[in-house]
Amino acid sequence: MSEPPLPASASERAQPGNREIEALRPPRNRVDADRPYHFLQERETGTFGVETVNTLFLTGKECAFKCLMCDLWKNTLDGPTPPGAIVRQIDYALARLPAADSIKLYNSSNFFDPKAVPVADYPAILERVRGYRRVIVENHPRLIGDACLQFRDGLHDDRPGGRGGTLEIAMGLETIHPVALPAMNKQLTPEDFRRAATFLTSHGIRVRAFVLLNPPYITDAREGVRWAVETVRFAFESGAQCCSIIATRPGNGIMETLQAAGDYVPPTLDALEAVFTEALGLARALPEPSRDPELRHRRLVFVDTWDIGFLSACPHCFDARRDRLDAMNLTQTIHQPVACSCHA
Ligand code: SF4
Ligand SMILES: [Zn+2]
Repeated sequence: MSEPPLPASASERAQPGNREIEALRPPRNRVDADRPYHFLQERETGTFGVETVNTLFLTGKECAFKCLMCDLWKNTLDGPTPPGAIVRQIDYALARLPAADSIKLYNSSNFFDPKAVPVADYPAILERVRGYRRVIVENHPRLIGDACLQFRDGLHDDRPGGRGGTLEIAMGLETIHPVALPAMNKQLTPEDFRRAATFLTSHGIRVRAFVLLNPPYITDAREGVRWAVETVRFAFESGAQCCSIIATRPGNGIMETLQAAGDYVPPTLDALEAVFTEALGLARALPEPSRDPELRHRRLVFVDTWDIGFLSACPHCFDARRDRLDAMNLTQTIHQPVACSCHA
């Protein structure tokens, strides 16, 4: 693709590092090391159709990275995750959730950081998640390695008739924009992502990519959509089976400062709808990703509708438009846009 006009502010000003990012943070939420900070059952389309997914937001050690746009640290602990805590949290949530096809263990950090999820806890965690069709965890691409394979191997039930679940690792690619990604303090290049995705898919592990709409330093609405779509394309071409598009939100301190300086512009609901439509089309258009029959699949695109109230600009159509996005997540098809005088 052609090189975009780079935002002058990003290239001319010093970009915030760990110290500036941490200095502007509001206080953490009060959390309990023995409780997930949230859990729910959701429906999500998988390779073979709509599945039920038990999604657990686990409380643990804060991520070692300090990305500019991240607010996941709000629900983390001050120090390393205590041994056994993750297992107790899983037990707590699963005792209160119905059975499900698949499970997400999202820990606001890196699942394969031993200070976030102690390796000694793997056997007890595996015992609890082995029966699920898919087990989805999150991890920074630069922390992908042999621990992922050890965990994948543990998912296989060796008893007669036992079946193994598939491991899926969600990684933040965020954007491939040549200014915005380095400025994000994520310590990541697109090549790092590609290398990690290649490693995982070559070992039978599925890859999900998180892609941001309007990260800091992409401040033009059309460029925001274009870079989100190009990032989805890069993720799929790197081997990802699934992309989840997230509207970059304020609320972590530094994002408010960036917004005041004109270096972050919140996306609109129009833009989120546009990027979803384009990315769904792209998912269909790209060639078959893998010759490995185990990894053959249709590519999936989701938009995160979890916390998009900040995109609401019209009280008349917001709920219907969010419902439409949810329906498109499930069907992986483009639905008729919601009519409203606000965007006629
Ligand atoms: S790697 Fe992920 S969890 Fe860690 S700071 Fe960045 S966005 Fe947040
Ligand atoms: Zn409206």
